[in-house]
Amino acid sequence: MSAAQPTDIVIIGAGFSGLYSIYRLRQDYRVICLEAGDGVGGTWYWNRYPGARVDIKSVEYSYGFDHDLAQEWSWPEVFSGQPDLERYANHVADRFELRQHLRLSTTVTRLHFDQDANRWHVYTSKGDHFVCKYIIAATGALSAPNTPPWPGREKFKGEIYHTTEWPREGIDFTGKRVGQIGTGSTGIQLAPIVAEQAQQLYIFQRTPAFSMPSGNRPMAPELERDWKENYADRRRQMLETYGASLTVLPKLSHDDCSPEERQRILEDAWSSQSAFQLMLVFTDVMTNKSANDAVSKFVHQKIREIVKDPATAELLCPKTYPIGGKRLCIDNGYYQMYNRDNVTLVDVNSAPIIAFTEDGLRTAEREYQLDIIITATGFDAVTGALARIVIEGIDGKKLADKWAEGPTVYLGLMTAGFPNLFMVHGPKTPAAQAQMITTGEWQVDYIAGIIADQEREGLSRIDTTEAAEAWWDEEVEMVSRATVHRFADSWYNGKNIDGKKGGFMIYVGGFPRFAQLSKAAVAEGYKGFVRS
Ligand code: NAP
Repeated sequence: MSAAQPTDIVIIGAGFSGLYSIYRLRQDYRVICLEAGDGVGGTWYWNRYPGARVDIKSVEYSYGFDHDLAQEWSWPEVFSGQPDLERYANHVADRFELRQHLRLSTTVTRLHFDQDANRWHVYTSKGDHFVCKYIIAATGALSAPNTPPWPGREKFKGEIYHTTEWPREGIDFTGKRVGQIGTGSTGIQLAPIVAEQAQQLYIFQRTPAFSMPSGNRPMAPELERDWKENYADRRRQMLETYGASLTVLPKLSHDDCSPEERQRILEDAWSSQSAFQLMLVFTDVMTNKSANDAVSKFVHQKIREIVKDPATAELLCPKTYPIGGKRLCIDNGYYQMYNRDNVTLVDVNSAPIIAFTEDGLRTAEREYQLDIIITATGFDAVTGALARIVIEGIDGKKLADKWAEGPTVYLGLMTAGFPNLFMVHGPKTPAAQAQMITTGEWQVDYIAGIIADQEREGLSRIDTTEAAEAWWDEEVEMVSRATVHRFADSWYNGKNIDGKKGGFMIYVGGFPRFAQLSKAAVAEGYKGFVRS
C-alpha cells in the first residue's frame, strides 16, 4: 500500500460526465479521475459490440461546453456508432489536456469517510490511497453488467461473451453456432450483424421489445450546418423540454384525431428517422391507454408485415406492457433478420433457460448445441456500479447496507450519512430519460456550484437528511404514477433483475422539473441539505 496522496476531488469514472467534471473543476481544485477501463468514454468504451450505436442524433448527443469544439467536430453519421463516440471522447481528453488527471485501469475498491477530518479516503485495485474532500461518482447508470446466475457456466466448452465486456479485437462468428440471450436495445442492434456471419443464430427471447428503424444515414451537410448555426438555442430548448430536443411536438390527443389522421401521423413517425417521434404522435401516448394501444398496434402491424413466418411474428409482438414502458429500441434490419434461414427465435418465456451445459444451453424444453453464447442481458442499472465499491460513511455505515431495500437519495445527488459525495446521473435522476451528455454537463455544473459555495463560505461538510430523501421518494413515486413506465418490468424500476429492491430507479418527471427542483433547493438556503 502506497502512502496517502492528498487531493481535493476524486472523480470516479472517465465517461462523458467524468471527463467534463475534470474540465470543469481542475482550474480551481486538485482533481484526480479514476477509471477502471484502460481508455476513456465510459459506456462508449465498454459497449463495443458490433452495431452499438446511439439512438439520439450525434449533433445533439455531444458536449455543449466549448463553442469551438462543437463547431469544429464533424460526425460522419447522423446516429454515431461506438467507434466514433469513443474517438470523440479521446479527442476531448487530448484537446483539453485532461489525461494528466486520469488514472486508467484503476478500479476504486473502497471509500471511507473520516468524519473527524471530513475527508474521504479512496482505495484502488492498484494499491493507491488518495485522501480528498469531495467525491464525484460519475459511475454511469448503465455500467455494471447483469448476467443471470444460470448454473454450469464453467462446464461450457465454447466461448461466452457479455455485450458490455466485448473484446477489443472483435469476435469471428464465421461458421459458428451462436446463441444470443436478450432482445433489449443491445441485443436488437447486435443480432443482425451476427446473423450475417454465423452458421446458425438462436435468439433466446423472454420478452419482445418494441423497435423501429434507426434511420441512420451519412451526416448531411445541411443538417450539420443547421445545428452548428443554432447550437445555443437548441441546447437551451433541449433543457427546457425533455432534456432532449424532440423538435416535432404533438398538438393533438389520440381522441382528437380521425382514424385516417392517426394512421398518417403514425406512418410519418415510423419513417421520421427519429425513434422517439413514435412516442410523440399524440399528446397522450404515455398517459392514455387508448392512445398507447393505438401506437402498440401500429408496431404490431409493422412486425407482421415484415416478418414472413406468422408464428415468429406473433412472438415478436410485445403484448404484455405498453409501448414506451421500456425505452424504445432502434434497429437496422432487426425484424427483417428473422426472414433468414439461419436465424431461429426461441421463446424462453414459456420454456426458461435452466443451465449452461458442456455443449450449449438447456431450456425447460430442450438443449441447444452452441459454439458461442452471447449474453445481451443488460445491466444492474443505476445502483450497480456504486454497489460494487465498499463505501463507508458516517460511523462506518456501509452504503450497501443503507441501500439494501433500494437506493434512498435527495435529488439523485446525495445520500444521507455520506457527506461530500455527489452522484452524476445517480439513482432517481432522469438518466436515460434525458440526453445524458447535456444533462450530465448540467449536473456537473450544479455540483461545481455547490462545491464553490462550500469553499467560499469556509465550510467543511455538506450532507442531506432522511427527511429530504423521503420527500424526494414521494416526488419520484408521484411522477411515476402519471406515466406508463410502471406497467413494464425494466431497469427503470429494477425489475429486470430478480430480487432487486427499491422501486423506481429513475425520475420520470422530466428534466426541466428535476432541474427546477434542484435549483430551488439551493436557492432556498440549501433546503434539504445540512452544511457545517
Ligand atoms: P435490457 O434492456 O435490460 O435487455 C436485457 C435483455 O436480456 C432483455 O431482453 C431481457 O429480457 C433479457 N434477459 C435478462 N435476464 C434474462 C433471463 N434470466 N432470461 C432470459 N432473458 C433475460 O438491456 P440492454 O439491451 O443492454 O439495454 C439497456 C439500456 O441501455 C437501454 O434501455 C438503453 O437505455 C441503453 N442502450 C441504448 C442503446 C442505444 O442508444 N441505441 C443501445 C444499447 C443500450 P426481459 O425483457 O424479459 O427482462
